[in-house]
Amino acid sequence: MTEFGELKKGVFPTILFETHADASTEPFWEAARRDKLVAPKCTNCGTFRLPPSPFCFNCQTRDVLWTELPGTGTIHSFTVVRHPLHPGLADCCPYVSGTVELDGTQGAGARMLVNIIDVDPDTVRIGDRVEIVFEHVNDEMSTPRFRPISK
Ligand SMILES: [Zn+2]
Repeated sequence: MTEFGELKKGVFPTILFETHADASTEPFWEAARRDKLVAPKCTNCGTFRLPPSPFCFNCQTRDVLWTELPGTGTIHSFTVVRHPLHPGLADCCPYVSGTVELDGTQGAGARMLVNIIDVDPDTVRIGDRVEIVFEHVNDEMSTPRFRPISK
């Protein structure tokens, strides 16, 4: 046991126990508590804005429609963290941190930076197919991670 709780190799521990959500992010966390992935979609041009932003980077519209996504995607980029950021995190190394391009979006508009779990750090590759999984930390906080789609 460490100050970060029980550590598991390949899983970066949840270090936030509150979402600190505001009106622009609460729909994401509310859906996460129900094991659903949603993202804000511009009501004017359809561009996904993830992480949420006050204005659409494509057309400057403010309004969004929170849209449920299938929760699957493709590894766009990743790194293998072999050296702990803090000595107390040594037992979770190595772990994979990467960006996942989300299915159901138009491409470059919606990627998530996440811990990719249940993968071999020596064989994980860009282009691998993954699915979201939520760790329910408490009544408020559910941490999203991705894992390989089981075949
Ligand atoms: Zn737009």
